[in-house]
Amino acid sequence: MLTLVVPVLSLQTKEQADLIVTGGTVVTMDGTRAVYEDGAVVVKGDTLVAVGPRAELIAKYEAQQTIDAKGKLVLPGFVNGHTHVPMTLFRGIHDDVTLNDWLYKYIFPAEAKNVNEEFVRWGTRLAAAEQIRSGVTTFADMYYFEDAVAEETKAAGMRGVLGETFIDFPAPDNKSEAQMLAYTEKFLRRWQGDPLIHAAPAPHSIYTCSEKTLQDASALARKYHAPILIHVAEMKKEWDDSQKQNGMSPVKYLDKVGVLGPDVLAAHCIFVDEADRKILAQRQVGCVHNPSSNMMLASGVSPVLELRAAGVAVGLGTDGPAGSNNDLDLMEEIDLAAKLAKITKMDPLALNAKGVVEMATIDGAKALHMEKEIGSLEKGKKADLILISLDEPNAVPLYDVYAQLAYALKASDVETVVIDGRVVMRNRKLLTVDEPAVLAKAREYKKTIAASLGLQ
Ligand SMILES: [Zn+2]
Repeated sequence: MLTLVVPVLSLQTKEQADLIVTGGTVVTMDGTRAVYEDGAVVVKGDTLVAVGPRAELIAKYEAQQTIDAKGKLVLPGFVNGHTHVPMTLFRGIHDDVTLNDWLYKYIFPAEAKNVNEEFVRWGTRLAAAEQIRSGVTTFADMYYFEDAVAEETKAAGMRGVLGETFIDFPAPDNKSEAQMLAYTEKFLRRWQGDPLIHAAPAPHSIYTCSEKTLQDASALARKYHAPILIHVAEMKKEWDDSQKQNGMSPVKYLDKVGVLGPDVLAAHCIFVDEADRKILAQRQVGCVHNPSSNMMLASGVSPVLELRAAGVAVGLGTDGPAGSNNDLDLMEEIDLAAKLAKITKMDPLALNAKGVVEMATIDGAKALHMEKEIGSLEKGKKADLILISLDEPNAVPLYDVYAQLAYALKASDVETVVIDGRVVMRNRKLLTVDEPAVLAKAREYKKTIAASLGLQ
């Protein structure tokens, strides 16, 4: 007699995923700011397919790769909204001087003598190691040879909004505006549709770019639906000169010449009055606050509370890493952003822990106009997440996750980092950057750079 074989497609069959992060305190930063005490995050390919209570998700999903996050925080990766990563190799070249002296006596000569494509590659690798270690998964950069920055960023598995600099003097890579335009157009074309790299033109500022350069760079960005990265109202002199030369503030001038729009990422925004803030909000410009840099260069304090109140998305950046900060530790900026707002307003309630964690995650993503992709742990977004150890002397006891993140936890507590579904650091071991080689090379560069400037 025949035995009937019934195919068993039982109801217990679980949905296949690629990675499940299970058991941690999941701080989603979603619209309701949901926190799951015993949560899980399910990843398929480069995408988050589920975020929620562990028991619910492990009943539904299984994956070949599991990361046990018990006793740890799980967060969306941090967004470093403004930096110049190859400058890691100039870290500490000369500090405690005025911006003018630093630029003209040290940095411009050092750049002229040392910056080439190879330099940019090693600087980007070093920065990738440092940023991954501090939980940064996306960063916005402005420098030269940005195509090489893009290649190294992709090799490190990081997400980058990478701006090729336009400036009205011969740069280390391009010597004229025509060359800058040609290089950047090729750069934008090459990276169109890349999952990790968003190529962008980066007109440096109104004080280093003519109206024509600003408009040409913006037109190129708009032709390719690319973002525009620019320094805006970052020093008093810029404001004063703009009043003198243009009869209006830097923000009004940028609006008048047609640069401002929902594709602009404006670094600093320190000297922005009420009318400027209204324009920035109307044009949906994203701003990036850089507390370390603003303090180190004594530039001033960005009116972060007023910008937020006006409806402007304000993210956080390290700037630097040379001369204006000296590291790429975004967790330090979270801490400082809160404290700088408090001391400026002489009010400990001015900007709270939750607010600054928002600036490092979802608001940073909004400032970069990437909030549909990144900035929170939500179904459908990119799988960019970090695990932070809570088993450290500075991490216990834990009463409030946001306060712990802002004021107690350190970059060195970041243990594991996943970007675009790929584990790039596991238990503090970097998997995409050859860290010993990068450190050795950075020490070698110090010798040649110092010699080129006649320093010890
Ligand atoms: Zn900058």
